[in-house]
Amino acid sequence: MYDIIIKNGTLVDFDKNKLTVKDIGIKDNKIASIDSSLNSGRKIIDAKDKIVSPGFIDIHMHEEKIIDGEDGEIYDIAYKMLKMGVTTCVGGNCGNNRQSIDEFFNFIDSNGAPVNYMIFAGHNYYRNKLGIDRYKEATREQIEKMIDLIREDIGKNGAVGLSFGIEYSPGIFLEEILEICNSIKEYDILISAHYRADAKKGIDSIKELIMISQVTGLPMQISHLGSCTAMGQMRESLDIIKEAVDRGIDVRADCYPYDAFSTFIGSSVFDDGCFDNWNKSYDSILLTEEPYKNIRCTEEIFHKVRKEYPNMLAVAL
Ligand SMILES: [Zn+2]
Repeated sequence: MYDIIIKNGTLVDFDKNKLTVKDIGIKDNKIASIDSSLNSGRKIIDAKDKIVSPGFIDIHMHEEKIIDGEDGEIYDIAYKMLKMGVTTCVGGNCGNNRQSIDEFFNFIDSNGAPVNYMIFAGHNYYRNKLGIDRYKEATREQIEKMIDLIREDIGKNGAVGLSFGIEYSPGIFLEEILEICNSIKEYDILISAHYRADAKKGIDSIKELIMISQVTGLPMQISHLGSCTAMGQMRESLDIIKEAVDRGIDVRADCYPYDAFSTFIGSSVFDDGCFDNWNKSYDSILLTEEPYKNIRCTEEIFHKVRKEYPNMLAVAL
């Protein structure tokens, strides 16, 4: 007798590279049997014409701000993830946290969560907390302070690693990254990074991230490779990553399945020179909030919105 039988579901068999229709018997929360015809179960779920798969892990997402979320909006992102089959989310990417890790996990401990959450400590979160200008180098004293805060979040508060958003703070020097990484090496962690620059400058950025992993010995997850080098540099960047992996460097990359990116219009991503680098013009930027919702930029609108609504999300197509 199984606790649950999922009947007639389509399973993806990666060994044979094909789809098969089978029943899955679950006992004590574990898959006990996958067979052609299972019948004896306390609960039977008919999955005809549906694919049955393990929950997906989304290694690159940005968690919601839950602390001052209102009723009905709490876990808005997590519920959307769940509808897409994602059961484990890794937040805190691109150097950014929406609230302190302590607050986030305390909230989950008291309220539960629709998905399993893992969180990176985001380097720029600490930079912002200390009031460091995004275009400026951190001082020695500021780096020491960041190290203390990061060590506390990784050592005590449950962060699974450290993420960098280098492009978002052009003042970040390589030494700052290396020094912080070297100070947290005793922890069993992953580092992830949103590269320094994309498109024509993307290859140098990928090389920098591989070098950081090589020098520090920490495993590196290169964030959303597509938005970095899918502007004509993808083949070269994949070759460089493969060559690094072959040399024993623990580097990986993720890529989202659409050919656009989105970030705040006030971000340094849109600083002078971006359109030359991308070979694009102002009308490739779509605005997402009123009073410019669904409007594509002109030069005038672009500069106006950057100034007046720096926190508006923009989509670059
Ligand atoms: Zn990013």
